[in-house]
Amino acid sequence: MLFDTHTHLDNEAFNEDREAVIAHAAEQGVTRMVNVGFNRETIPTTMALAEKYDFIYAAVGWHPVDAITMKPEDIDWIAELAKHDKVVAIGEIGLDYHWDTSPKDVQQRVFRQQIGLARELNMPIVIHNREAHEDVVRILREEKASEVGGIMHSFSGSWETAKMCLDMGFYLSFGGPITFKNAKQPKEVLVKVPNDRLLIETDSPYLTPHPFRGKRNESAHVRLVAEAGAQLKGMEYEEFCRITTENGVTCFDIR
Ligand SMILES: [Zn+2]
Repeated sequence: MLFDTHTHLDNEAFNEDREAVIAHAAEQGVTRMVNVGFNRETIPTTMALAEKYDFIYAAVGWHPVDAITMKPEDIDWIAELAKHDKVVAIGEIGLDYHWDTSPKDVQQRVFRQQIGLARELNMPIVIHNREAHEDVVRILREEKASEVGGIMHSFSGSWETAKMCLDMGFYLSFGGPITFKNAKQPKEVLVKVPNDRLLIETDSPYLTPHPFRGKRNESAHVRLVAEAGAQLKGMEYEEFCRITTENGVTCFDIR
């Protein structure tokens, strides 16, 4: 029993074999996935997947990298889609200071707007944070994101940042990097995160775990993340899978 809480199966990397990839994940014990649509192109393809497959849920939001492309009517579009049964979160939203496709002030405005929307809808948020830890935490606080909580996706920050996110009621999600030999920080943080706040994900087709690094990632590989996580936590594999799946079900309020 595995829950891949963050995947992009609608990505063009899966155009040749999407059905097989999804079937393979199910064979490997992946019982639930959240596919994330994050702009004008990927929101419709994410919705289509969630409608086609029972065990695929959707998160919809506007990615910080694409912030500059968001029009006022897009927030209404997201609000409308959020009423759909299979939409379980607003995201991925946040800040990305690595790529400079959208100016920081635009990213911050779009981020704040979507936290506001999530609070109106009372839905959890999925946070993308790249090289922007300080501003992400500050904005989450200022916008009272603790009222809805959510997930710090592919968490890459320090334990100090992790603590601030945990205090605001967030779950921390870990993926491929915890399987990398030289990734000290995410491993150390994972060990300290309380068991009831821990989630796992692939972020496929990105962030492929060891030993497939360099190849396309897929949801079945969440098993490798769970194996690494269980080992770091000193927990039985089955127990680790059970706990992280339960957390996902609780966090996204999936029955
Ligand atoms: Zn993502």
